[in-house]
Amino acid sequence: MDRPKSHGRLSISASLRPGELMTDRPRLKGAWTARIITLFPDAFPGILGLSLTGKALDQGLWALDPIDLRPFGEGKHRNVDDTPAGGGAGMVLRADVVAKALDQAALGTPGDRSRWPVIYVSPRGAPFTQATARRFAAADGLTVLCGRFEGVDERVLEEYGVEEVSLGDFVLTGGEIAAEAMLDATVRLLPGVLGNAASTEEESHSGGLLEHPHYTRPAEWRGRAIPEVLLSGNHGAVERWRREMAERLTEARRPDLWAAYRRGTD
Ligand code: SAH
Repeated sequence: MDRPKSHGRLSISASLRPGELMTDRPRLKGAWTARIITLFPDAFPGILGLSLTGKALDQGLWALDPIDLRPFGEGKHRNVDDTPAGGGAGMVLRADVVAKALDQAALGTPGDRSRWPVIYVSPRGAPFTQATARRFAAADGLTVLCGRFEGVDERVLEEYGVEEVSLGDFVLTGGEIAAEAMLDATVRLLPGVLGNAASTEEESHSGGLLEHPHYTRPAEWRGRAIPEVLLSGNHGAVERWRREMAERLTEARRPDLWAAYRRGTD
């Protein structure tokens, strides 16, 4: 990304479309930025505006630029979609309209896709995993195209080399919830967003295992006691217990992860 020339930590980046991308939030110099192409810009930041991700957004640790697809539409009614070639149900987002939005989203971003991935959230995409979140967090930012209706004209995805990423094997009505879920997983990995950095190293899907169970006060609840070892004060024993529980849980619930973990540790 073209770094702003100011020498301070805070910078207000030049707005691509005055009044549209401009927000009253501060933005730290070179802050990780998500550009979201959507017919529903009001859906953002949504849940990302709350709690830790919201606080980090307010602090300018990351930035969000929703790009409304509608103004790029054709004609008086700003049509963004049309009927599918070959017939069938639903509507398809037009290649020419989506291309204009992708061009705007690309302004000031590096062309190198490893530094700035450009994705279309889609049930046909590669499954989004913790590794995907780490890859996105390591970049300077991310452009996300949210589909609606039947999806997007294939040609624009080919022409712009857009990567398809899926939230899971189910179909949503639009890409906005998928985008927010992926952004949440990504943004929490950015430096300073979570208070306790160690917590992203030990959680589920980081070391190939699901996480061990958690307990807190009261020590006994409805006749159920907290496992004694956790109250022993013996850190080594606690660590061993947690690892054993994580392994047992992973083996029982996710044979696929367990097999991969065993291959990796052999
Ligand atoms: N006809 C398409 C589904 C369209 S759903 C198909 O069968 O593949 C409408 C939009 O919702 C999509 O364009 C996509 O952006 C979003 N979407 C739906 N399911 C999704 C998923 N599992 N992951 C990510 N995005 C999804």
